[in-house]
Amino acid sequence: MHEIKPTVVNKQHVIYEYECDLCDVSYIGYTLRHLHQRLADHTKQSSSIGKHFICVTSCVTMHMLLWNMLILSEFSDSVSFCI
Ligand SMILES: [Zn+2]
Repeated sequence: MHEIKPTVVNKQHVIYEYECDLCDVSYIGYTLRHLHQRLADHTKQSSSIGKHFICVTSCVTMHMLLWNMLILSEFSDSVSFCI
C-alpha cells in the first residue's frame, strides 16, 4: 500500500495547523501521540476539523486531512511549549 508522506504521520509531539483550501478557516492543534492517531480523531464528526470537512465535502479521509496539514513545529518529550 502506498502512503503519502509516511514520515509525517509517524511523527510524535507535533504542533500542526490545518488550513481549509475552500475557505479561510484554520485550526491549530498538537498531539503527543503519532500524528496519524490524531488525524484518525479528526475524521470523526466530534472533531471540529472533521465537522468542518464533512460540512464542505460530505466526507473526510486521513489523506484529505493530511493534504492540508502543516507541521508548525516539533518538540521533544515533555518539554513545555507555548504558541
Ligand atoms: Zn472550509
